[in-house]
Amino acid sequence: MKITFPDKLKLANLPAPLVPLPRISKHLGGPKLWVKRDDLTEFAAGGNKIRKLEYVLADALSQKADWLITCGGIQSNHCRATAILAGRLGLGCQLILRGVRPTELSANTFLGHLSGADLSFYGAADYANLDRLFRLHIARLESQGHRPYRIPTGASDEVGIWGYIDAGVELAKDIKAANLERCLVCCATGSGGTHAGLALAHELFGGAPVRAYAVCDDANYFANKVKADISRWHKRYCATSELPEPILDICDDFIGRGYAQADSQLLATISWAAKTEGLILDPVYTGKAFLGVITQIRSGQLREYENIIFVHTGGGFGLFPYQSAFAASGAQAEPYI
Ligand SMILES: *Cc1c(COP(=O)(O)O)cnc(C)c1O
Repeated sequence: MKITFPDKLKLANLPAPLVPLPRISKHLGGPKLWVKRDDLTEFAAGGNKIRKLEYVLADALSQKADWLITCGGIQSNHCRATAILAGRLGLGCQLILRGVRPTELSANTFLGHLSGADLSFYGAADYANLDRLFRLHIARLESQGHRPYRIPTGASDEVGIWGYIDAGVELAKDIKAANLERCLVCCATGSGGTHAGLALAHELFGGAPVRAYAVCDDANYFANKVKADISRWHKRYCATSELPEPILDICDDFIGRGYAQADSQLLATISWAAKTEGLILDPVYTGKAFLGVITQIRSGQLREYENIIFVHTGGGFGLFPYQSAFAASGAQAEPYI
């Protein structure tokens, strides 16, 4: 199948390093654990969203857009990255955020504000009709003479998934360079784009199979979302060849009480990773996926692999709103598994 990558902007520091976690691997026994440091793709705009935005923002500029508009949870990493990159490119930015406007902006929301984005907050009932909110803001921006470009949740669409097709190709090179056998790539999944891109890259270019750990909805939801994104990607970029149907391995056993809900086991795992290996995870995405990976290593479910590559998708700023939750849980430096 002939694949032509579209143009992208060079915004991220790539390739991201692949590093071993020797102490955690030794503690767990079983396969060797590695981290793909996608949290290092940039400082404040870093994490997984910048890889997708390299393609999405190239598309926006090719359409002569001067304003970005996107949406997410109140502490959305994606909104933070979009706002900062809008600043970097001299574009305007409107964020549609789910939740009540906090009395003081913090962490991701603060960085979005600092970068000049306009932040609009909506309660659950309004946010349920997201399309309407986009239409209202787009109409307003157009009436002011702007050319807004709409980016969906997490920049997970047919354009954004190129970022993780690219990352999958990068991982295949890492695996080859380090001579790693029998690998499994693991990542958190929240809007499906990271998983879609990595799974497509495995199908089209080789490298390692992928397991995604859901942080909100169930496996069935994510399978449908990823298939829909891949189908739109196929239609836009390679309609003449057959639709690729990568194996979708999705685990939804580590969501806990729900999106952005952190229980004491999760907080303890995050403390343990920081103390044992200097690995800073977040309670919304990477902490849950990492808890999934270490639990499954420990229980022997990943025995068939020699190397597990955990994609660190960033989100570090998302730790700060949980400071009091850490204090209250009295999380120890003991692994909870
Ligand atoms: C958005 C996000 C994810 C999930 O990636 P998707 O492509 O939206 O599934 C994982 N980790 C972090 C830190 C994120 O911000």
